[in-house]
Amino acid sequence: MTKCTECDANIPVPKDALEGELVTCPDCGASYELVKGTDGFGLKPAQAVGEDWGQ
Ligand SMILES: [Zn+2]
Repeated sequence: MTKCTECDANIPVPKDALEGELVTCPDCGASYELVKGTDGFGLKPAQAVGEDWGQ
């Protein structure tokens, strides 16, 4: 089960989810990227806006 690190809510992951897919916590709205672990998917906090767009 994947849990939000912000509010500890369970975040549903679609069965056909792909690594790198973004999921959002239904409770607090935090965004996470799915990362494949040894035992199913894990969550990695998604980078908020702030990608380096170049200057
Ligand atoms: Zn949350």
